[in-house]
Parts: sequence; structure tokens; C-alpha cells
Amino acid sequence: MVQINEGLCKSCGYCVKFCPKQVLQIGHERNRRGHFFPVVVNERSCITCAVCALMCPEGAIEVSKGGGKA
Ligand code: SF4
Ligand code: SF4
Repeated sequence: MVQINEGLCKSCGYCVKFCPKQVLQIGHERNRRGHFFPVVVNERSCITCAVCALMCPEGAIEVSKGGGKA
């Protein structure tokens, strides 16, 4: 499961670019700092590799394994 702390996002797009499964896309809403943040568009394809979390320079993404707990 991918959780995005949208308020921290700077809209760099790294998470979108480096996800091997095209799970994320930059959305159409801005956070309160004015940046468009990513949304999960294809969660079922996520392999919980955590590349998105590793690439995010703002630490805005958390990836947890398993079906909804943690
Ligand atoms: S954990 Fe991996 S597959 Fe899932 S959204 Fe992040 S980069 Fe993509
Ligand atoms: S890598 Fe982080 S800061 Fe960059 S778009 Fe994704 S969530 Fe936002």
C-alpha cells in the first residue's frame, strides 16, 4: 500500500517517473504549498518495491506491504 503525504510534495515527479509499474500519476489538485501531488491510479499493480519512497526527496511517500494493515 502506498501512502502519500501530499502536504510534503514538491511535484518533482520522481516517484511517477521511477515507478516500474506506472502506479502513480501527478494529479490535478495542488497541496497548500501550490504543488500538484501524485495520486495512486493503479494500486493493484504495485509490487511494494518502495522505489517511489526511496526516490522522493521530501520523504512524502510510505510503502507498506500487506493488505491494508500497518
Ligand atoms: S512501491 Fe514500487 S510499484 Fe508501488 S508505487 Fe512505489 S515504485 Fe511503484
Ligand atoms: S517524489 Fe515526492 S516530492 Fe516528488 S512528486 Fe513524488 S511525492 Fe512529490
